[in-house]
Amino acid sequence: MIKKDIIKNDADFIWHPLTQHKTASEPLAIAHAKGNYLYDFDGKKYFDGISSWYTCSYGHTNPVLTGAIKKQVDQLHHVVFAGMTHEPVATLGEKLIGILPDNQQKLFFSENGSTSVEIGLKMAFQYHFNKGEKRNMVVALENGFHGDTFGAMSASGLSVYNGPFEDFFIDVVRIPAPTNENLPQVLELVHSLLEKHEISSFIYEPLVQGAAAMQLNDAAALSQVIRKFQQHGVIAVADEVMTGFGKTGTYFASDQIEAKPDVICLSKALTGGIMPMAITSCTQKVYDAFYDDNLAKGLFHGHTYSGNPLGCAVAAAAIDLLISEGIQRGVKNIEASNLEFKTKIESHHNVAAVRTRGVILAIDLAIEMERYGNKRNEMFQWFWKRGLFLRPLGKTVYIVPPFTTTSAELDFIYQLLEEFLDQIS
Ligand SMILES: *Cc1c(COP(=O)(O)O)cnc(C)c1O
Repeated sequence: MIKKDIIKNDADFIWHPLTQHKTASEPLAIAHAKGNYLYDFDGKKYFDGISSWYTCSYGHTNPVLTGAIKKQVDQLHHVVFAGMTHEPVATLGEKLIGILPDNQQKLFFSENGSTSVEIGLKMAFQYHFNKGEKRNMVVALENGFHGDTFGAMSASGLSVYNGPFEDFFIDVVRIPAPTNENLPQVLELVHSLLEKHEISSFIYEPLVQGAAAMQLNDAAALSQVIRKFQQHGVIAVADEVMTGFGKTGTYFASDQIEAKPDVICLSKALTGGIMPMAITSCTQKVYDAFYDDNLAKGLFHGHTYSGNPLGCAVAAAAIDLLISEGIQRGVKNIEASNLEFKTKIESHHNVAAVRTRGVILAIDLAIEMERYGNKRNEMFQWFWKRGLFLRPLGKTVYIVPPFTTTSAELDFIYQLLEEFLDQIS
């Protein structure tokens, strides 16, 4: 199909996510992608500076990953996962439990980040229910983002456009992200919440709150808050949908936090951006609360594509890549380069703040603007025209590059960022 027909069919038949079609500009038609680049129909290439929403951490069409899926597709591509099992899930299970924090023991499958969160919240509700307790309240961090299904949406504090649904939300209270400074007050608040409410779970994005423009949270302070909740039997749910699989410099952000979660939500880079798949992992303690002669104590949640063999095969190959020397070297190189670049531009007159953790680097611009205003689109276009795909969030410009990004490619990104900063009036 030629580009003109793609655009026409898209306009005729397609409803895009997160889009107001009346005012949106024409979608960009992508012809193909390879390595760290997207290609348009004129053959022009664009560096994928956000790894296509933090998924393609090993680059696009990585031969190790496409090889794994090609091999699996002629063997077994899908089968009912209630009551049946297969090799790819057995392989993936062992590999993933091998790299997750030590206390994680069981894996529950779904297809996207939101459902992995939904399942985490349901596990926590039923964990207490099965123990004869009715705990109906969830605690979440301010400005958190956990997805767009009802439970996940309820837990998200960034609900700018959630007005039509708010009446149907589950009960959630929000606490400020703990820092070294506010920790006594936050612990006080947690204490009073624990006294007043029946709290089922505490959900948090460890280290980096992605949708909150890559806000970093304090590992030591967060650890104390997690501990406090766990001491009162509250299930700690780490939403690592964005931070999981190497982006913060360690395999998981929870590796850098002393208090370990009871439940971890994973998706995005799980399959390196190839198959839509998600996993909610949990501890033996959580699993045991469901293990009973009574059928009704089981977790009666399931999605048609749960444990899809193609997804499992590619996720297992992605873990092999993640732990490989080459990829780990890449992560360390990006991490060190980001730190250096941060020091370089920190005092730039158009920079309000810079933060970095692992491969993530975010720059807050010292300008006035709305989170979803026109300026954001202008910024997007500025970078796109110069061959770099970024999605600024409000006045924050950030990168989450693939781990396969070379030093020369990092220089290209940094140079463009500097040029961008220089030209803001
Ligand atoms: C993207 C994201 C989600 C939602 O995942 P989807 O696959 O888009 O449903 C949940 N939590 C975090 C932290 C995310 O970054």
